[in-house]
Amino acid sequence: MIGIQTELPESGLSRHAIEEVAREIRAQLESELDYRDAGDLYRVVQWLGGELCYYDLLGSDDHGSIEVRGPSEFTVYLPRQTNGLRDRFTLAHELAHYVLHARQGERPGRCQRSGAPARLEWEANWFAAELLMPADRFQRAWRESSQSARRVAQTFGVSPAAARTRAKALELPGA
Ligand SMILES: [Zn+2]
Repeated sequence: MIGIQTELPESGLSRHAIEEVAREIRAQLESELDYRDAGDLYRVVQWLGGELCYYDLLGSDDHGSIEVRGPSEFTVYLPRQTNGLRDRFTLAHELAHYVLHARQGERPGRCQRSGAPARLEWEANWFAAELLMPADRFQRAWRESSQSARRVAQTFGVSPAAARTRAKALELPGA
């Protein structure tokens, strides 16, 4: 890791505005990368100009972090030895820091979950949820699967826990 010490600041945007940004990015990925539900996020990182770096898990520190050096210059650090579905949410969360908080590299900085203000992390989770599980399609999938978190999770390539959290946040019946 090179020596960027500045911590990324909160975006200050409302949840609604953050979800709007996520929808814009998602639309861009769909048209330019042919990204679809449960798609390959590694390609997304590459397309944005970033790189992925795995580190060995030590103790309970099992979450990702990101270092943004400039536009199209960033590294996402992910722990090895976790499960792939959880990795996808973590990766989308780190991309949120790049897009929302580093403004796609205009504002260099880093973010490590431990010690980061809670608001920063919520913002990244709101973005990640909308990016991976767009509200309109999620609601339909939830209904069509008879409210099965497990099946909906498969559709969107996330863990059942992430699908349940999403259903609760959208206040869906049976969540
Ligand atoms: Zn974070």
